[in-house]
Order: sequence, then structure tokens, then C-alpha cells
Amino acid sequence: MPGSSGTAPPKLMVEGLCKRYGATTALEPTQLSVQEGEFLTLLGPSGSGKTTLLQLICGLVELTEGRVVIDGCDQSGTPVHQRDIGLVFQHYALFPHLTVAENIAFPLKMRGRPSAEIGRRVAETLEMVHLGHLAERFPRELSGGQQQRVALARCFVYQPSIILMDEPLGALDKKLREHMQIEIKRLHRESGSTIIYVTHDQEEALALSDRICLMNHAKIEQLGTPQAIYERPRTAFAADFIGISNILRGEFSGVNGSRCLETKFGRFMLPRDCACDGESGALVVRPENLRIGPGAENRVEGRIREIVYAGSETRIIAAIGESELMTLRLPSGDAVPSLGETIAIGWDRDKAVLVP
Ligand code: ADP
Repeated sequence: MPGSSGTAPPKLMVEGLCKRYGATTALEPTQLSVQEGEFLTLLGPSGSGKTTLLQLICGLVELTEGRVVIDGCDQSGTPVHQRDIGLVFQHYALFPHLTVAENIAFPLKMRGRPSAEIGRRVAETLEMVHLGHLAERFPRELSGGQQQRVALARCFVYQPSIILMDEPLGALDKKLREHMQIEIKRLHRESGSTIIYVTHDQEEALALSDRICLMNHAKIEQLGTPQAIYERPRTAFAADFIGISNILRGEFSGVNGSRCLETKFGRFMLPRDCACDGESGALVVRPENLRIGPGAENRVEGRIREIVYAGSETRIIAAIGESELMTLRLPSGDAVPSLGETIAIGWDRDKAVLVP
């Protein structure tokens, strides 16, 4: 009996899904499962395979190998319009000759819903996206942010099984993007829908997601909660792509029973719980875990190159050795050293992460 084990079956399962274009592999064979109501973000640099994975899930491109299973049913051969998947793209693609309300009603009309139900659902969805007062306007009479809210409403209104969004905020300016992120988060919470969201913007991924699927070179690099990926990156790529990281490479050594990393900037103690595989590795230290002054377990000398005031914090960029730069983050109110000054930069060993 479905669900009798107590764990809900995944909303979506991607099994060995793969896409090749001639000699180019756009997506290596990939496994992924998404739970009902989850907000999963596909994050990665341009060309890493995010859009390909999204298009394979909805059936916009034909898969080379593998299966797409939604609610336990194999949908690999099902055409895109029969998959019960909602799509929101960067370019709103609203119908210019239809009003806001008519645009939102469109998917319900297409599905032949009774007009009383259409009227009620359109009114509810207009309220949900705070556009009730603009129902009779045409798309050309709306701002970019309002148009994107209509596009979101047109998708949420027919309650598709899964909603896929491909860089939906890509065309908006930073302030509006941040505002719309909060709106999307609220829409997700209120609707309980399952959302798969593509972005190359790491801050957006951290802000929105239940889990982030970080992609690189046509495969999944790391999959986890924003906190897990930020605090425990498994590779130097993951550390570097999400947030700012200071990465120090070196060879392992053992000194007085403690494991250390020998780098060209000195010897640093490794975190207590790390596993050292092989002979070399890299320490990742986040800017907020570095401090100025003596007293930390690991120390390195740096010369202040840049001081960047950012309101709530001050970012300090210091040169260590000849070419390497380290970034520190000082909360506002902390004493800021002067440009050109030599400082002791320190961190406690367990505040760093070891990656291969
Ligand atoms: P992303 O969305 O992360 O920017 P894509 O999924 O669009 O990446 O692309 C992944 C890779 O597949 C890229 O190297 C891209 O050039 C290649 N690719 C995508 N679509 C096609 C296509 N229609 N023909 C050939 N190569 C493609």
C-alpha cells in the first residue's frame, strides 16, 4: 500500500537521467529525488547542466538515457503538456492582448474548468500575488516585477504537481529581485507546492531553498541544505562557488600527535573531526571565521591591501605571501586596521573545513 511504510514516496525521482548532444555531454547520468512540498534549487555556473536537467524533467528535450518518475509513475515518454508541470521562465511570455485576470484564467480555461471555479481561483490567486487592484490592466501597463508576479500567478493558479522555474528573476534589478525572492518564498509556503528552481546566483539559492543541488561539469557536485553546503562544502569548487572562501592548499603532516597542513604560508592545524585521504588537501576558512590579532590556534601574517566598507560589515582583503589574498569580515563597530598595515590573521582549527 502506498505510504504504508510511513515515509512518503518522492514527488519526483530522476533515475540515471542523461543527455548527450553528439560528443557533448550536457548531463552525466544523474540520480535525484525531490519530496512533496520541497523547494529545490539547481545552482551552478553557466554550462553546468542546470537547464538541461530542468528541461529533461518537464520533457522539453528528449532524454538520452534514464527515467523521470513523478508520483511513482514513469513519465519519461509523456509529452510536456501532459506532465502536469508548471513552468515559469525569465521572460514572462504573458499574452499582451489579455488582461491580468484573463492571463491568469487562461490555464484554467484551457483545462475546461467551470466558469464559477475559474472566477474563484483567479480571485484567490490575484490576492495571493497582491495584484487584485490591477486585475483589469494589460501586461504593457505593468512594471517588470508586476509582470513576473502575473507569470507566477498563471502557474500557481492551476496547482500543477510540480513547478519548474528557470531564472525567473533574471531580468529584474537587485532590489526587486530580493523583494520577489521573499514573495516566491511566501507563495511556496502558502501553496505547499513542489518547486524546482534554476539560478546561477548563490545568494538567491541560499535565501530560497530547502535544498541546493550544486552542479558543475554536467553533474551534481553537492546536494544538501543551504547551511550544510555553506558550512561543510565537500570540494574546493563548492566552497568557492557558494559564499567567499579562503582556500589554503598543502601537504599533510603529523606534529606532536596533531594533524597539520604544511602550506607555503606556514603550518596549520587541521580540524579535529576531518578525514585526511591521500597526501594533500586544502583548508577552507570563511571570512567571518577569521579574526585579527594573536590567540587563535592557527595564524598567518597578512598585509592589508583593501578595505571595503559595506554598511553592516567591513571586508578586509589582506595579502599573505606574494600573491595569495585572504578576505576577512569585521562586524560594524570593530576596530578597522589601516591600509598597508601588517596584521596577525587567525582562526581556530575547528572553524575550517578540509576538502580534497
Ligand atoms: P546551464 O543551464 O547550467 O547554463 P545547460 O544545461 O544549458 O547549462 O548546458 C549544459 C551543456 O550542454 C553546455 O555545455 C551546453 O553548451 C550544452 N548544450 C545545451 N544545449 C545544447 C544543444 N541544444 N546542443 C548542443 N549542446 C548543448
